[in-house]
Amino acid sequence: MDTPSRIALARMATFIIDNGNSCTGWSGCTTPDGYPMFWYEGHTRHASRILWEIVFGTIPEGQVIRHKCDNPACLQLSHLELGTVQQNQQDSISRGRRPKTRGKYRTRRTRK
Ligand SMILES: [Zn+2]
Repeated sequence: MDTPSRIALARMATFIIDNGNSCTGWSGCTTPDGYPMFWYEGHTRHASRILWEIVFGTIPEGQVIRHKCDNPACLQLSHLELGTVQQNQQDSISRGRRPKTRGKYRTRRTRK
C-alpha cells in the first residue's frame, strides 16, 4: 500500500465511529440517505468505494459495493461485498427498502 493510501486510511479512520457492535458509524459527511462520503485524490466519493479500492484494488466496471448488514453508514470491511446494480436493487427489495433510482424522471415519448 502506497503512502497516500495509508494517509487516506488514517484520515478516514478519524471519521469512523466504533458503535460497540459489529457495524461502524460515520461522523463525516454523508449522502442524504446516509452513505459516508470522503475526499480522496481530488474528489469526494462514497467512502465504501474508496476503502474497497485501497484495500482490494480497482472495482470492476459495473460493480457496486453492497452492504450485507443493510447499514449505509457502516464501513466494516467484512460487511461489504461487490455486486451488480441489479443485485443491490434486489437487496433493497428483499429487505423492504425501495431501490434507488438515479437520474431525472423519464417520460415516454409519443408520436402525434
Ligand atoms: Zn455493518
